[in-house]
Amino acid sequence: MKKKIILTGIRPTGNLHYGHLFGACQNWLKLQDEYVFYLEIADVQALTDNFHSPNKVHSNVFELTSDLLSIGIDPKKVHIFVQSQIPEIAELTVFYSNLVTMARLYRNPTVKTEIAQKKALFGNDGESVTYGFVGYPVSQAADITAFKGELVPVGEDQLPLIEQCREIVRKFNSIYGEVLKEPEPYLSKTPRIKGLDGNEKMGKSLGNAIFLVDDEETISKKVMRAVTDTQKIKKDDPANPEVCMVYYYHKLVNQENVDVVCEECKKGARGCVQCKKELIEKMNEFMKEIREKKQYYREHPEEVLRILENGTKEARSVAISTMRDVKKAMQIDYFERGE
Ligand code: ATP
Ligand code: MG
Repeated sequence: MKKKIILTGIRPTGNLHYGHLFGACQNWLKLQDEYVFYLEIADVQALTDNFHSPNKVHSNVFELTSDLLSIGIDPKKVHIFVQSQIPEIAELTVFYSNLVTMARLYRNPTVKTEIAQKKALFGNDGESVTYGFVGYPVSQAADITAFKGELVPVGEDQLPLIEQCREIVRKFNSIYGEVLKEPEPYLSKTPRIKGLDGNEKMGKSLGNAIFLVDDEETISKKVMRAVTDTQKIKKDDPANPEVCMVYYYHKLVNQENVDVVCEECKKGARGCVQCKKELIEKMNEFMKEIREKKQYYREHPEEVLRILENGTKEARSVAISTMRDVKKAMQIDYFERGE
């Protein structure tokens, strides 16, 4: 039986964090054996709101790739590629941009939320939202369809973008013929991981993330500052674990003891400091192997470069073939027709 095709991506705007791992990457690890898997390092998309920081995007391409390798993404199974090095994606984006209205882009819930977050973080009035940023769902539709992606394993925040991609595919096929595939999203059991500050989403750009490469000291500082039940004043006050971020992360890295943590917290039999210390220990245990692998890739940057180069070459040949079908369907294959 023919293996199904997966396309997913990540923006090189910072290191991998718990949101990525539990929200999306654990599914990638699970699926990498069974599918033809394309994993995009979305540098063009990162530039939409980081165009003024080329250094940041450049260095994060390598940082993020080595993070992905450190959590166990296997380059023998997954084609890891760099978006900007596949010009066919940019070409497709131009053609798709005719199939989407500005009103529809502004209505996209992910775009809406991200613009609101930028305003809250940087206090801008929206004047600086660029054409490229508002249009990134169109380029994301090109990312997915350039590889005829059928399944897109992502976090919950990405669902409206996949819906928009499906709309573009339907429109394209209805005008030019059945060339493209409508992709399906694939969510994890924990599709939205909250931030240290209690924010609904942990995000690289939101300053509320626990990164998988954070060292012990950083982890300790972050957990000590995490939001807990503000009603709990004294060590033996009963508290509500459901509003506590420390309990929330115990559920991710300390599953075997989480019921005890919950009960003791409710009864007032567990102080927050003790609870945080236990969490720090569990997190360090959980990240030990990842940190060791990361160290290996820090010492072997040429290996990371080679993996990206090979992955990009393999991915590009597929995008070129899709582009041929697209141009034929759109009747812009002037020199291929032999007329
Ligand atoms: P940025 O702030 O630059 O957008 P990000 O942290 O949102 O960074 P992305 O590169 O946009 O990371 O997302 C990569 C993948 O990780 C996507 O599938 C996204 O849905 C998923 N993801 C990111 N943050 C979370 C989260 N907090 N919970 C669940 N999934 C997440
Ligand atoms: Mg994001």
